[in-house]
Amino acid sequence: MDKFQEIYQIGEDIYLNPELGFKEVHTSSLVENYVKKYFPDVVIERFAKTGIKFNIGNKKPLHIAFVAELDAVFAPSHFHANPKTGAAHNCGHYSQVAIILHLFRSLIENEKYEKFDFSMGFVFVPAEEYLDLEFRHKLKDMGEISYLGGKPEAMKLGIFDEYDLAICVHAMGGIFPERSIEINCDLAGFMYKNYKFKGKAAHAGFAPFAGVNAYSISTLFNVALGLARQQIDEKHLVRINPVILESNMGVNVIPNEITVGTDIRAHSVEYMMKLSKDLDNMAKGSAMALGGQVEIENNMGYLPFIQSRYLSNFVRKAYEKFDIIKVCKDENPISAAGDIGDLSFMLPCIQIGYSGFKGTIHGDDFIHDDIEYIFSIFPQFLMKVLEEMNEKIDKTKLYKRTYEEYKKAIDILGGINEK
Ligand SMILES: [Zn+2]
Ligand SMILES: [Zn+2]
Repeated sequence: MDKFQEIYQIGEDIYLNPELGFKEVHTSSLVENYVKKYFPDVVIERFAKTGIKFNIGNKKPLHIAFVAELDAVFAPSHFHANPKTGAAHNCGHYSQVAIILHLFRSLIENEKYEKFDFSMGFVFVPAEEYLDLEFRHKLKDMGEISYLGGKPEAMKLGIFDEYDLAICVHAMGGIFPERSIEINCDLAGFMYKNYKFKGKAAHAGFAPFAGVNAYSISTLFNVALGLARQQIDEKHLVRINPVILESNMGVNVIPNEITVGTDIRAHSVEYMMKLSKDLDNMAKGSAMALGGQVEIENNMGYLPFIQSRYLSNFVRKAYEKFDIIKVCKDENPISAAGDIGDLSFMLPCIQIGYSGFKGTIHGDDFIHDDIEYIFSIFPQFLMKVLEEMNEKIDKTKLYKRTYEEYKKAIDILGGINEK
């Protein structure tokens, strides 16, 4: 079987057998088998239940990690969802795994990796999507993981300590008439908050005036939030999505408790923290106005992802010499988030987007379309990126922070993410 066919089959196999985060058993065994087949001497390190890491060649002063995400999304209505688990590959992670494996094989063919002035490692990370939280909280309680996201978990385990930079790839959402890539697509960070509004129960007919309506307090809070949007600076690409998480309402009782949950997404941590305080004030003010109370809980999600412009420049240069790819989208930040943001706190990262799909990303019909591009041409392009980087990366332009520094930053942000 030729390289393309084999890689495409692995991609399809993962696509048709989607697994949620920290449960990617089949997916990671496919990775392991493929790697061992072509690189029998490999030393594989397993981490965080299903994560896989290995290096090729001797370590050089500059050490690069290729990162791929193993997990699927919870999307039971997707046309290829697993009927039992509801998992579906509508974020394209299956193709990342296949692409990175293709690159791996091209690098070890004739020991091509020896040509480069940097050494390379491969990290297949579980659980990028922030979901299935009940299961993950259970894993946390059992002491099997500390973080709900795979990359922060890997960071804690020291998986990335030896690397100087990381290269990731990700499917681009949307239809592109021409073969495209994307660089410098920054992602928002996010935190989420729970506001438990407390009132006082009373008979709704007999004595409503004796109660304090917690639902009314939450309505007032929602109105304040709506009006406050005018005061939110657009440049931080903020998203706020308040929803009712819990209530115990019945029509004949003045509701005495309701919990509103909301995320706050922004491209700046400082701005996210400012908004967090603003929302707290709105919640407290609403409770005070109607004679009730509010309890506030903060949870840190992921940090914003600011892509390394320095490293993206090498991608752009490779693109300019690579005719088959026609479009390079640049500088289109979005308000989705990813745990690559956390990783980029420790070391410079880029995430190169690739087109070739149809349907809606995270929707019900997402699937590969231009298979030659995804599973063959794009991995070849990544090799060109490496050639472009060879002997040109100036280590003084890179940064490195420790896991301890990361933990400190998250703690300041109210990070209850870690147990
Ligand atoms: Zn996703
Ligand atoms: Zn994704």
